[in-house]
Amino acid sequence: MADNQNTPLLKLSDINYDELSPMMRQYYDIKKDLPEAIVFYRLGDFYEMFFDDAIYVSRLLELALTRRDCGNNMRAPMCGVPFHSYQSYAQKLISSGLKVAICEQLEDPALTKGLVKRGIVNILTPGTATDFMGGEGDKDNNYLMSIYCIGSQFGIAAADISTGDFDATQLTFEANGEHLMNLIGRYRPSEILYNPAFESTPEYEVIRQGFTTSFTKRSDRSFDGDTVKKHKYVMQDIDKFYDPSMLLSACGAIAQYAEETKTGRVMYLNTVKCFVMSDTMELDYSTRTNLELTATIRSKSKRGSLLWAIDRTKTAMGGRLLRKWIEEPLVVTSLINSRLDAVEEAYDKYMARQEMIEALSGLYDIERLSGKVSLGSCNARDLISLRNSLAKIPFLIECSSQFKKGIFKQINKDLDPLQDIYELIDSGISEECPLTLKDGDIIKRGYSEECDELYEIATNAKQYILQLENSEKEKTGIKTLKISYNKVFGYYIEVPRSQADNVPDNYIRKQTLANNERYITPEIKVLEDKIVNASSKRVALEYELFNEIRIKVAAASERLFRTARAVALIDVISSLAQLASDENYCRPVVDNSEIIEIEAGRHPVVEKTLNDAAGFISNDTSLDENRRLMVLTGPNMAGKSTYMRQVAIITLMAQIGSFVPAKSARIGLVDHIFTRIGASDDISMGQSTFMVEMREVSYILKNATRRSLLLLDEVGRGTSTYDGLSIAWAVIEYIMDPNILYSRTIFATHYHELNQLSRICRGVFNNHVDVKENKDGVVFLHKIVDGGTSDSYGIEVARLAGVPNDVLLRSKSILGELERIGNFKVVGSTKVEDGVLMPSSDAMPGQESIFNPGNVVYRKEDKLRSAIRDVDITRITPLEAMNILYELVKITGEEDNGEN
Ligand code: ADP
Ligand code: MG
Repeated sequence: MADNQNTPLLKLSDINYDELSPMMRQYYDIKKDLPEAIVFYRLGDFYEMFFDDAIYVSRLLELALTRRDCGNNMRAPMCGVPFHSYQSYAQKLISSGLKVAICEQLEDPALTKGLVKRGIVNILTPGTATDFMGGEGDKDNNYLMSIYCIGSQFGIAAADISTGDFDATQLTFEANGEHLMNLIGRYRPSEILYNPAFESTPEYEVIRQGFTTSFTKRSDRSFDGDTVKKHKYVMQDIDKFYDPSMLLSACGAIAQYAEETKTGRVMYLNTVKCFVMSDTMELDYSTRTNLELTATIRSKSKRGSLLWAIDRTKTAMGGRLLRKWIEEPLVVTSLINSRLDAVEEAYDKYMARQEMIEALSGLYDIERLSGKVSLGSCNARDLISLRNSLAKIPFLIECSSQFKKGIFKQINKDLDPLQDIYELIDSGISEECPLTLKDGDIIKRGYSEECDELYEIATNAKQYILQLENSEKEKTGIKTLKISYNKVFGYYIEVPRSQADNVPDNYIRKQTLANNERYITPEIKVLEDKIVNASSKRVALEYELFNEIRIKVAAASERLFRTARAVALIDVISSLAQLASDENYCRPVVDNSEIIEIEAGRHPVVEKTLNDAAGFISNDTSLDENRRLMVLTGPNMAGKSTYMRQVAIITLMAQIGSFVPAKSARIGLVDHIFTRIGASDDISMGQSTFMVEMREVSYILKNATRRSLLLLDEVGRGTSTYDGLSIAWAVIEYIMDPNILYSRTIFATHYHELNQLSRICRGVFNNHVDVKENKDGVVFLHKIVDGGTSDSYGIEVARLAGVPNDVLLRSKSILGELERIGNFKVVGSTKVEDGVLMPSSDAMPGQESIFNPGNVVYRKEDKLRSAIRDVDITRITPLEAMNILYELVKITGEEDNGEN
């Protein structure tokens, strides 16, 4: 089909329906209901795309764009993919967030006069196209999420249709938008269904811009809670909600959509786990990102993330479960300890653990295979993979039964040998089955007598054909006679033209070729019928038998899924035990205290990626009732951010039930980890950074509780030092007010002024990262030690950068002066490269230094200090001393009253 490159490409919106050819009208009618999907229109051996779809897809998939007559001299842009290999093309479209509607010929073109009837048989979407998800070794879930919104309340459901995972909750209290965002961060859905009201929420815009997810608007009608009842879903823990109607609506939308997109197929999603946000440790989106739990900040890859560092799982099921554990740390000590007990037992029993790991290797994805079986989308090879995996279960059960502690109790209960299913598949499905279901060779010989018989007839008949050939040769005396087969007239007898006169009368001539004549006989046609009939009967019968087997296996899907999950648990537990032993981790004590006590803690990822010969320097952490907020100072590159992340990650690991990279650790439950990390890393993002920073701080201050862990890195850095320091100061005071938050906090900063807070604010203490100075400059020791610092090393850095000596000397003397008077206003930044330190006499009018008397925090300090400073101990009498003491006590009392 030659293409005239000069005429413009015709768009769907350009055409006049009445002028279209009948076929193009059919296309148009189908396409107009599916504006958001790419329509694969079946035409012979191809799926063709037309108009806008063709223009778009040809570019995306680098397909040749041609044109096809579409009536009245118009030519439609067209591109196509072969129908037998359309999967890989569809897969690419789906993973770029598109939907693909498969439009099939619904009648046999050979038997139809005129236009063949066509219709959509399947819509492949990112959240529902199970055939395109996973494969062996795939450790990712693929979630379809639905959001049902009324005002600022949400019903939310998330389902992985390929594994049957189905969770739901509803947010009907405060901070809903934020919880919603956190859930999206947790599930990372590939597709989101939403009702129209959602479009007018502030979250809608943020999500649309912030996530590369496919969005599908659905009518309010499709958010129907009754669908859930109709399908008899088991709603686990639904009594956590007084009125679960929003949650049910969200589930209903998923059920309906999954059904619609799988036209005619049965859904397998039968248990919905209902949860409330407080069931697990809440991790907000920026914390997940900052801590690089499952992907790195920079490249978004798994490599370099926590998951990458700790994942030793052997199966895709285990891989997915470990990821889920990381995404949803626990907040109930008994549940955590039950996991830890199991990990510890697996850690202790070395031999048994190795056996168990061995048993797991080579197991296919039982969960997804069972999903495919239940959805009716499996082929015979999938069943063989399932059988091969089931073959290993008995040994796995034997291994697992050597473990008795913690969650092993439940695992051993749930493991089902599934011997019946193994035998069913083993006896029924042929080892060398093809990928297709309609070409036979699926059913094993010996499974069905009828099938075997048909097989015999077909093979024997072929034998008869040979016999017939021989007897015809003898009868006619034509030695060169032979019987062959072609599609046009089936079996025929071929004779050289020179011998044509010798053929008997019952030969019916069919074709004359240059050198040969071709004939058929009634006898040969009888044989042919037998062969063809037997074969097609057998193919049909095999398909029927295959479906019977599939349905029987599907009927066991609950046992299969339960076993698959137990296998996943075994995998995760043994993986964590192996990790602990390889990497020298310890079992943490997890309790309800408000303590975090870590001895020689390490960062699990940094310690793996460090090239430094000196290796990773371990550090202690001790947060308790009196040491509640650590002000952590130290120069750039000292290791502040690493240390903070390490504390968060150790806490998180403990709460998923893992051993932790430390010599010992005691973790008092944390309900939510908040982080504000990264201003220094995204400085290139410019001015809006400070706004983002403040938004995050505001989120933290509004949502943190006494049980939370807060990691604040360089808060205030994004603005002028004066602003920044004041904000940092006030934020610490706010956090440390026992009546407001009193959360465990690490606050990294280069404002050394904040060290003063430890003397006036209960719970605040100072640590700094130790740095050694030698003749070559500073050496980073990465060691966290007690106490604050006064020296920012800014001048040292300036020296390393080659700032002239005179300037360095002058700045040293200014710094000395400033420290002596202790009363200065700071402009710009304390970092020498960024700004200058200026004495308060230069302060701009109207701007008061926070160190001046009159400042709330400093008032008490300063009055006391000046009163004491005025005392000349060498001159006063004991009576005067008593009076002074009386005065001092009075000042303290005043201040306290004044503050309350
Ligand atoms: P800061 O936040 O103080 O600027 P970072 O935490 O970003 O410093 O650490 C800077 C670099 O120092 C890290 O990339 C890492 O290579 C190294 N580092 C940090 N902490 C340690 C440690 N405890 N042991 C060894 N190297 C460390
Ligand atoms: Mg840092």
